[in-house]
Amino acid sequence: MIMLNSMAVNKVLLAKPRGFCAGVEMAIKALSWMVRVFEPPVYCYHEIVHNKIVVDRFSKLGVIFVDDPTQVPLGSPIMLSAHGSAPSVVAKSKEVASISINAVCPLVTKVHHEVKTRSSKGFEIIYVGHHGHDEALGTTAVAPDSVKLIESVEELEALKIAGPDIALITQTTLATDEWREIADRAKEIYPEIWSPGKSDLCFATTNRQAAVRELAPLADATVIIGSANSSNTIALAKVAARVSNRPVYRVNTAAELPDDLSGTIAVTAGASAPDELVDEVIAKLTPSDGVEEVHVVDEDEYFPPPRELRDFMKKLTTALAVIMDLDPEVATSPLEADPSVTASDTLYQLR
Ligand code: SF4
Repeated sequence: MIMLNSMAVNKVLLAKPRGFCAGVEMAIKALSWMVRVFEPPVYCYHEIVHNKIVVDRFSKLGVIFVDDPTQVPLGSPIMLSAHGSAPSVVAKSKEVASISINAVCPLVTKVHHEVKTRSSKGFEIIYVGHHGHDEALGTTAVAPDSVKLIESVEELEALKIAGPDIALITQTTLATDEWREIADRAKEIYPEIWSPGKSDLCFATTNRQAAVRELAPLADATVIIGSANSSNTIALAKVAARVSNRPVYRVNTAAELPDDLSGTIAVTAGASAPDELVDEVIAKLTPSDGVEEVHVVDEDEYFPPPRELRDFMKKLTTALAVIMDLDPEVATSPLEADPSVTASDTLYQLR
Protein backbone atom coordinates (compact mmCIF):
# COMPACT_ATOMS: atom_id res chain seq x y z
CA MET A 1 0.00 0.00 0.00
CA ILE A 2 1.30 3.49 -0.82
CA MET A 3 1.12 5.89 2.14
CA LEU A 4 0.67 9.53 1.13
CA ASN A 5 2.30 12.18 3.29
CA SER A 6 -0.39 14.81 3.85
CA MET A 7 1.99 17.33 5.33
CA ALA A 8 2.67 20.63 3.60
CA VAL A 9 5.69 21.79 5.51
CA ASN A 10 7.63 24.61 3.82
CA LYS A 11 10.49 25.02 6.15
CA VAL A 12 12.14 23.56 9.23
CA LEU A 13 13.87 25.90 11.69
CA LEU A 14 16.34 23.62 13.43
CA ALA A 15 17.55 24.80 16.83
CA LYS A 16 21.22 24.85 17.70
CA PRO A 17 22.19 23.73 20.24
CA ARG A 18 19.87 20.74 20.50
CA GLY A 19 20.16 17.08 21.47
CA PHE A 20 22.98 15.39 23.35
CA CYS A 21 24.76 17.47 26.00
CA ALA A 22 28.28 16.86 27.31
CA GLY A 23 27.00 14.80 30.27
CA VAL A 24 24.90 12.52 28.08
CA GLU A 25 27.75 12.18 25.56
CA MET A 26 30.07 11.08 28.35
CA ALA A 27 27.60 8.57 29.84
CA ILE A 28 26.63 6.93 26.53
CA LYS A 29 30.23 6.60 25.33
CA ALA A 30 31.22 5.16 28.72
CA LEU A 31 28.48 2.50 28.60
CA SER A 32 29.39 1.64 25.03
CA TRP A 33 32.94 0.92 26.22
CA MET A 34 31.51 -1.32 28.94
CA VAL A 35 29.57 -3.41 26.39
CA ARG A 36 32.64 -3.70 24.17
CA VAL A 37 35.02 -4.72 26.94
CA PHE A 38 32.88 -6.99 29.16
CA GLU A 39 30.91 -10.12 28.36
CA PRO A 40 27.17 -9.50 28.77
CA PRO A 41 25.37 -8.85 30.94
CA VAL A 42 26.63 -5.44 31.95
CA TYR A 43 24.37 -3.86 34.58
CA CYS A 44 23.29 -0.23 34.68
CA TYR A 45 21.68 1.43 37.68
CA HIS A 46 18.70 3.41 36.34
CA GLU A 47 18.28 4.30 32.67
CA ILE A 48 21.69 5.51 31.50
CA VAL A 49 19.88 8.57 30.11
CA HIS A 50 16.14 9.12 29.78
CA ASN A 51 15.61 8.11 26.17
CA LYS A 52 13.82 4.93 25.10
CA ILE A 53 15.81 4.46 21.88
CA VAL A 54 19.11 4.70 23.75
CA VAL A 55 17.95 2.35 26.51
CA ASP A 56 16.49 -0.18 24.02
CA ARG A 57 19.70 -0.20 21.98
CA PHE A 58 21.83 -0.98 25.02
CA SER A 59 19.29 -3.58 26.21
CA LYS A 60 19.71 -5.42 22.91
CA LEU A 61 23.45 -5.49 23.54
CA GLY A 62 22.94 -7.25 26.86
CA VAL A 63 22.77 -4.33 29.29
CA ILE A 64 20.36 -4.98 32.14
CA PHE A 65 18.90 -1.85 33.75
CA VAL A 66 18.12 -2.17 37.46
CA ASP A 67 16.58 0.09 40.10
CA ASP A 68 18.44 -1.46 43.00
CA PRO A 69 22.12 -2.50 43.09
CA THR A 70 21.19 -5.55 45.19
CA GLN A 71 19.66 -6.94 41.95
CA VAL A 72 23.18 -7.14 40.48
CA PRO A 73 24.84 -10.57 40.82
CA LEU A 74 28.09 -10.49 42.77
CA GLY A 75 31.11 -9.79 40.61
CA SER A 76 29.29 -8.25 37.64
CA PRO A 77 30.28 -4.96 35.98
CA ILE A 78 27.94 -2.05 36.77
CA MET A 79 27.54 1.52 35.56
CA LEU A 80 25.67 4.21 37.47
CA SER A 81 23.57 6.59 35.38
CA ALA A 82 24.22 10.21 34.38
CA HIS A 83 21.51 11.47 36.76
CA GLY A 84 23.56 10.81 39.88
CA SER A 85 22.99 8.16 42.54
CA ALA A 86 22.35 8.14 46.27
CA PRO A 87 25.52 7.65 48.35
CA SER A 88 24.15 4.28 49.58
CA VAL A 89 23.78 3.13 45.94
CA VAL A 90 27.35 4.16 45.08
CA ALA A 91 28.63 2.28 48.14
CA LYS A 92 26.54 -0.86 47.47
CA SER A 93 27.62 -0.94 43.82
CA LYS A 94 31.27 -0.86 44.81
CA GLU A 95 30.59 -3.71 47.23
CA VAL A 96 28.83 -6.06 44.79
CA ALA A 97 30.41 -5.27 41.41
CA SER A 98 33.63 -6.46 39.81
CA ILE A 99 33.95 -2.89 38.58
CA SER A 100 31.65 0.02 39.35
CA ILE A 101 31.78 3.02 37.02
CA ASN A 102 29.91 6.15 38.00
CA ALA A 103 28.78 8.05 34.91
CA VAL A 104 27.20 10.87 36.93
CA CYS A 105 27.32 14.21 35.12
CA PRO A 106 29.88 16.50 36.82
CA LEU A 107 27.21 19.21 37.05
CA VAL A 108 24.99 16.91 39.11
CA THR A 109 28.00 16.10 41.30
CA LYS A 110 28.38 19.85 41.91
CA VAL A 111 24.78 19.99 43.20
CA HIS A 112 25.39 16.93 45.44
CA HIS A 113 28.40 18.79 46.83
CA GLU A 114 26.30 21.91 47.57
CA VAL A 115 23.75 19.77 49.45
CA LYS A 116 26.46 18.03 51.44
CA THR A 117 28.27 21.26 52.35
CA ARG A 118 25.14 23.21 53.32
CA SER A 119 23.69 20.38 55.39
CA SER A 120 27.00 19.92 57.22
CA LYS A 121 26.80 23.63 58.14
CA GLY A 122 23.35 23.11 59.64
CA PHE A 123 21.28 24.56 56.79
CA GLU A 124 17.78 23.39 55.98
CA ILE A 125 17.62 22.90 52.22
CA ILE A 126 14.73 23.64 49.91
CA TYR A 127 15.43 21.55 46.80
CA VAL A 128 13.42 22.43 43.68
CA GLY A 129 13.02 19.31 41.55
CA HIS A 130 10.61 16.72 40.20
CA HIS A 131 9.12 14.20 42.60
CA GLY A 132 10.33 10.72 41.63
CA HIS A 133 12.91 11.86 39.03
CA ASP A 134 16.20 9.95 39.23
CA GLU A 135 18.27 13.12 39.68
CA ALA A 136 16.04 14.34 42.52
CA LEU A 137 16.15 10.91 44.19
CA GLY A 138 19.95 10.87 44.12
CA THR A 139 20.39 14.47 45.27
CA THR A 140 17.87 14.42 48.14
CA ALA A 141 19.49 11.19 49.40
CA VAL A 142 22.77 13.05 50.00
CA ALA A 143 21.23 14.64 53.12
CA PRO A 144 17.68 13.30 53.54
CA ASP A 145 17.13 14.85 56.98
CA SER A 146 18.01 18.35 55.75
CA VAL A 147 16.30 18.43 52.35
CA LYS A 148 12.70 19.31 51.52
CA LEU A 149 11.77 18.58 47.88
CA ILE A 150 9.27 20.94 46.27
CA GLU A 151 8.22 21.39 42.66
CA SER A 152 5.81 24.34 42.71
CA VAL A 153 5.19 27.71 44.35
CA GLU A 154 2.24 26.12 46.17
CA GLU A 155 4.47 23.42 47.67
CA LEU A 156 7.00 26.10 48.65
CA GLU A 157 4.33 28.17 50.40
CA ALA A 158 3.09 25.11 52.29
CA LEU A 159 6.52 24.48 53.81
CA LYS A 160 7.13 25.22 57.46
CA ILE A 161 10.81 26.02 57.92
CA ALA A 162 12.01 27.88 61.00
CA GLY A 163 15.50 28.73 59.79
CA PRO A 164 17.55 30.81 60.26
CA ASP A 165 19.93 29.00 57.89
CA ILE A 166 18.05 28.01 54.73
CA ALA A 167 19.44 27.15 51.27
CA LEU A 168 17.76 26.97 47.88
CA ILE A 169 19.21 24.29 45.59
CA THR A 170 17.83 23.05 42.28
CA GLN A 171 17.64 20.10 39.90
CA THR A 172 19.80 20.90 36.86
CA THR A 173 17.14 20.46 34.18
CA LEU A 174 14.14 22.63 35.08
CA ALA A 175 12.38 25.20 32.88
CA THR A 176 14.11 28.52 33.64
CA ASP A 177 10.94 30.66 33.95
CA GLU A 178 9.27 28.14 36.22
CA TRP A 179 12.39 27.92 38.38
CA ARG A 180 12.69 31.73 38.56
CA GLU A 181 9.11 32.07 39.84
CA ILE A 182 9.86 29.62 42.64
CA ALA A 183 13.25 31.23 43.42
CA ASP A 184 11.72 34.74 43.55
CA ARG A 185 8.93 33.60 45.85
CA ALA A 186 11.44 31.78 48.08
CA LYS A 187 13.39 35.04 48.45
CA GLU A 188 10.21 36.89 49.43
CA ILE A 189 9.35 34.33 52.09
CA TYR A 190 12.95 33.82 53.30
CA PRO A 191 14.87 37.05 52.49
CA GLU A 192 18.15 35.62 53.87
CA ILE A 193 17.96 32.35 51.90
CA TRP A 194 21.31 31.14 50.53
CA SER A 195 21.58 30.06 46.90
CA PRO A 196 24.61 29.39 44.70
CA GLY A 197 26.02 32.45 42.87
CA LYS A 198 25.09 30.91 39.56
CA SER A 199 21.87 28.88 39.39
CA ASP A 200 22.12 25.09 39.46
CA LEU A 201 20.38 24.89 36.06
CA CYS A 202 23.02 23.46 33.74
CA PHE A 203 24.38 25.10 30.57
CA ALA A 204 22.73 22.47 28.34
CA THR A 205 19.30 23.10 29.85
CA THR A 206 19.56 26.89 29.59
CA ASN A 207 21.13 26.87 26.11
CA ARG A 208 18.48 24.56 24.60
CA GLN A 209 15.74 26.62 26.20
CA ALA A 210 17.27 29.86 24.87
CA ALA A 211 17.24 28.38 21.36
CA VAL A 212 13.63 27.20 21.47
CA ARG A 213 12.56 30.50 23.05
CA GLU A 214 13.88 32.24 19.95
CA LEU A 215 12.52 29.78 17.36
CA ALA A 216 9.05 28.82 18.62
CA PRO A 217 7.47 32.27 18.05
CA LEU A 218 8.70 32.19 14.42
CA ALA A 219 7.02 28.88 13.59
CA ASP A 220 3.52 27.53 12.98
CA ALA A 221 4.24 24.66 15.35
CA THR A 222 7.16 23.36 17.43
CA VAL A 223 8.34 19.76 17.59
CA ILE A 224 10.35 18.69 20.66
CA ILE A 225 12.06 15.31 20.32
CA GLY A 226 12.58 13.41 23.56
CA SER A 227 11.06 11.09 26.13
CA ALA A 228 8.23 11.89 28.55
CA ASN A 229 10.47 11.05 31.53
CA SER A 230 13.23 13.42 30.36
CA SER A 231 12.99 16.48 32.58
CA ASN A 232 14.92 18.80 30.25
CA THR A 233 12.71 17.70 27.30
CA ILE A 234 9.54 18.53 29.21
CA ALA A 235 11.13 21.86 30.17
CA LEU A 236 11.70 22.61 26.45
CA ALA A 237 8.03 21.93 25.71
CA LYS A 238 6.96 24.23 28.57
CA VAL A 239 9.21 27.04 27.32
CA ALA A 240 7.94 26.68 23.73
CA ALA A 241 4.32 26.75 24.92
CA ARG A 242 5.01 29.82 27.04
CA VAL A 243 6.58 31.90 24.25
CA SER A 244 4.27 30.96 21.38
CA ASN A 245 0.52 30.49 21.04
CA ARG A 246 1.02 27.78 18.39
CA PRO A 247 0.90 24.00 18.95
CA VAL A 248 3.85 22.24 20.61
CA TYR A 249 4.33 18.51 20.04
CA ARG A 250 6.67 16.31 22.08
CA VAL A 251 7.45 13.12 20.18
CA ASN A 252 9.64 10.10 20.91
CA THR A 253 10.12 9.35 17.22
CA ALA A 254 9.04 10.56 13.77
CA ALA A 255 6.20 8.01 13.86
CA GLU A 256 4.45 10.13 16.52
CA LEU A 257 4.38 13.31 14.40
CA PRO A 258 0.85 14.54 13.59
CA ASP A 259 -0.06 14.05 9.92
CA ASP A 260 -1.35 17.56 9.31
CA LEU A 261 1.66 19.78 10.06
CA SER A 262 2.13 22.65 7.63
CA GLY A 263 4.03 25.91 7.16
CA THR A 264 7.18 26.55 9.19
CA ILE A 265 8.04 24.03 11.89
CA ALA A 266 10.58 24.66 14.67
CA VAL A 267 12.43 21.48 15.66
CA THR A 268 14.64 20.79 18.65
CA ALA A 269 15.65 17.78 20.77
CA GLY A 270 16.16 17.21 24.49
CA ALA A 271 19.63 16.56 25.86
CA SER A 272 19.15 12.77 25.79
CA ALA A 273 17.74 12.45 22.24
CA PRO A 274 20.16 11.16 19.58
CA ASP A 275 20.80 12.89 16.22
CA GLU A 276 19.31 9.98 14.28
CA LEU A 277 15.86 10.85 15.70
CA VAL A 278 16.24 14.45 14.51
CA ASP A 279 17.21 13.19 11.05
CA GLU A 280 14.16 10.91 10.96
CA VAL A 281 11.82 13.74 12.00
CA ILE A 282 13.18 16.05 9.31
CA ALA A 283 12.91 13.28 6.70
CA LYS A 284 9.26 12.81 7.61
CA LEU A 285 8.50 16.56 7.58
CA THR A 286 10.10 16.86 4.08
CA PRO A 287 10.18 20.69 4.07
CA SER A 288 9.80 21.97 0.51
CA ASP A 289 12.10 24.98 1.15
CA GLY A 290 14.61 23.00 3.19
CA VAL A 291 16.08 23.24 6.68
CA GLU A 292 17.52 26.37 8.25
CA GLU A 293 19.72 25.68 11.25
CA VAL A 294 19.39 28.62 13.64
CA HIS A 295 22.49 28.97 15.76
CA VAL A 296 21.49 30.67 19.00
CA VAL A 297 24.22 29.79 21.53
CA ASP A 298 27.76 28.40 21.19
CA GLU A 299 28.27 25.17 23.09
CA ASP A 300 31.50 23.20 23.05
CA GLU A 301 31.69 21.63 26.53
CA TYR A 302 33.36 18.24 26.80
CA PHE A 303 33.35 15.93 29.82
CA PRO A 304 36.03 13.22 29.91
CA PRO A 305 35.09 9.57 30.61
CA PRO A 306 34.50 8.62 34.27
CA ARG A 307 37.74 8.28 36.26
CA GLU A 308 37.13 4.57 37.06
CA LEU A 309 36.80 3.83 33.33
CA ARG A 310 39.97 5.76 32.46
CA ASP A 311 41.91 3.87 35.16
CA PHE A 312 40.53 0.53 34.00
CA MET A 313 41.25 1.14 30.30
CA LYS A 314 44.78 2.26 31.13
CA LYS A 315 45.45 -0.97 33.06
CA LEU A 316 43.86 -3.03 30.28
CA THR A 317 45.99 -1.30 27.63
CA THR A 318 49.16 -1.89 29.62
CA ALA A 319 48.30 -5.58 30.18
CA LEU A 320 47.60 -6.10 26.46
CA ALA A 321 50.89 -4.43 25.55
CA VAL A 322 52.75 -6.80 27.86
CA ILE A 323 50.96 -9.84 26.36
CA MET A 324 51.81 -8.65 22.83
CA ASP A 325 55.43 -7.95 23.82
CA LEU A 326 55.03 -4.19 23.13
CA ASP A 327 56.44 -1.34 25.18
CA PRO A 328 53.71 -0.56 27.79
CA GLU A 329 55.11 2.98 28.12
CA VAL A 330 54.07 3.87 24.57
CA ALA A 331 50.78 1.94 24.50
CA THR A 332 47.91 4.45 24.39
CA SER A 333 44.42 3.86 25.76
CA PRO A 334 41.66 4.01 23.12
CA LEU A 335 40.00 6.59 25.38
CA GLU A 336 42.56 9.15 24.27
CA ALA A 337 40.52 9.47 21.06
CA ASP A 338 37.35 10.08 23.09
CA PRO A 339 37.04 13.87 22.45
CA SER A 340 36.85 13.29 18.68
CA VAL A 341 34.13 10.61 18.91
CA THR A 342 30.43 11.48 19.21
CA ALA A 343 27.90 9.50 21.20
CA SER A 344 25.43 9.65 18.28
CA ASP A 345 27.96 7.96 15.97
CA THR A 346 28.83 5.45 18.67
CA LEU A 347 25.15 4.60 19.20
CA TYR A 348 24.54 4.32 15.48
CA GLN A 349 27.42 1.83 15.15
CA LEU A 350 26.00 -0.24 18.00
CA ARG A 351 22.73 -0.92 16.13
S1 SF4 B 1 21.34 17.92 31.02
FE1 SF4 B 1 22.90 19.11 32.14
S2 SF4 B 1 23.09 18.11 34.14
FE2 SF4 B 1 22.03 16.68 32.75
S3 SF4 B 1 23.66 15.40 31.90
FE3 SF4 B 1 23.36 17.13 30.49
S4 SF4 B 1 24.88 18.68 31.13
FE4 SF4 B 1 24.64 17.22 32.81
